[in-house]
Amino acid sequence: MRGKSVLVLEAGPEVRNDQLGTMWAAAVHPGYFNRMAVFSRSVESSVIYHTSNVGGSTVFACGNMIRKQEVEERLAAVFGLTGLSECFDEAEEETFARPLPTESLVGASKKLMEEAQGLGYSAKPASKGLIDGTTCKGCGKCVLGCQRGAKWDSRRYLASAVKRGATLRSRTRVNRVLLEGGKAAGVVVEEKEIIKGRVVILAAGAMNTPVILQRSGIEAGAGLFVDYFKCVYGMADKGTQLKGQTMAFLAEAAGGEQDFMISPFVDDPLQYALFCPFSWQIRGGFFRTRVMGLMVKIADERSGTVRPNGKIRKKPTQADRIRMGAGLKAAAKILEASGAKDIATTAVWRGAHPGGTAAMGEVVDCTLEVHGIERLYVCDASVLPFAPGRPPILTITAIGKWLGKRL
Ligand SMILES: Cc1cc2nc3c(=O)[nH]c(=O)nc-3n(C[C@H](O)[C@H](O)[C@H](O)COP(=O)(O)OP(=O)(O)OC[C@H]3O[C@@H](n4cnc5c(N)ncnc54)[C@H](O)[C@@H]3O)c2cc1C
Repeated sequence: MRGKSVLVLEAGPEVRNDQLGTMWAAAVHPGYFNRMAVFSRSVESSVIYHTSNVGGSTVFACGNMIRKQEVEERLAAVFGLTGLSECFDEAEEETFARPLPTESLVGASKKLMEEAQGLGYSAKPASKGLIDGTTCKGCGKCVLGCQRGAKWDSRRYLASAVKRGATLRSRTRVNRVLLEGGKAAGVVVEEKEIIKGRVVILAAGAMNTPVILQRSGIEAGAGLFVDYFKCVYGMADKGTQLKGQTMAFLAEAAGGEQDFMISPFVDDPLQYALFCPFSWQIRGGFFRTRVMGLMVKIADERSGTVRPNGKIRKKPTQADRIRMGAGLKAAAKILEASGAKDIATTAVWRGAHPGGTAAMGEVVDCTLEVHGIERLYVCDASVLPFAPGRPPILTITAIGKWLGKRL
């Protein structure tokens, strides 16, 4: 993109690190952070997390930077994204992605990883995007946003683009794409302002990009996946899991219904109170300091839809339930082996990796240009044609770099 005049339009506000760490207050405080959304709900009550702020959801990510070979190979082979591997290399370097040192795993997370290995799962310290290992104090509050600025997020790319001459306009929501003679000619923002541009790249995320496309008369929004997850909790006699890295290791099982990812995780206080079975909390699980927790994540089927008015349809399919069931059973076994008692599972189906709503081969072609519309590109999780079942930031970043080199 060097030498091009670039304008970035972002619906949400800019966030400073000192405002972070209390993010989920937004769920109960409508005025907080300019009504920054923290989740959407499907008609069938699936909860889908995504945020609206400069830097998007990466600001509230757990810092996992995962390069899954199968995802990379499928994108390269099926969609002919040649040179993608180099883009992954660069993305890994620029996001500081590297595995946590084994000695940084402490307390319950360490115990859980050892027991997972003992039960035959491939469990390894997670690869994290930590800018410098010394700033991170392992407070375990990554999903609230990092007050110390220890983990990488995409505000770094934006800052570097602005330094090189790009303009960033926050609190500017795009309504639709301006089309002239089958070509993109700019966008119309919510206040009806028209902003002209030679090339338009939509990157509003899988819950919003399809809304903009549909409002522009382009079919999109089918095939939503979210990488469903549930948490399994058990009560621990001693020791707490709240100290140390969030999701410090990944245990994987791959193949058929045994395809899931397990990672140590305890919800933040608000989510914990909302999603843990109430009777279990009353029995003694009220204090988060007394629990051990594992998150089970699956690659779900692309069964959901996002409508032009933002209405979402998404519920687990039979295959999703079978896959999740196998993962939950494995997580319960690991917790029991680690000494946890009275195991309980969160009931609500949640997902934090929405994607697939403007997929390659369906809405966009293999250059990420929208079928039939010149100069209109999509470059976010919407273009992923299958659920990765693993944290997708590194993949989305690599795809972004791939497009940037070709424009
Ligand atoms: C709590 C949480 C933890 C996560 N942890 C990890 C992790 O550890 N590792 C990992 O790989 N992934 C993680 N993820 C997932 C990851 O953050 C997302 O998959 C990724 O950020 C998606 O990128 P995106 O560009 O598609 O969309 P987003 O990051 O959602 O960005 C879309 C941006 O577009 C803006 N926007 C929306 N509509 C408009 C509009 N109309 N006009 C202008 N701007 C608009 C939004 O405000 C937002 O800033 C996590 C997600 C959450 C919510």
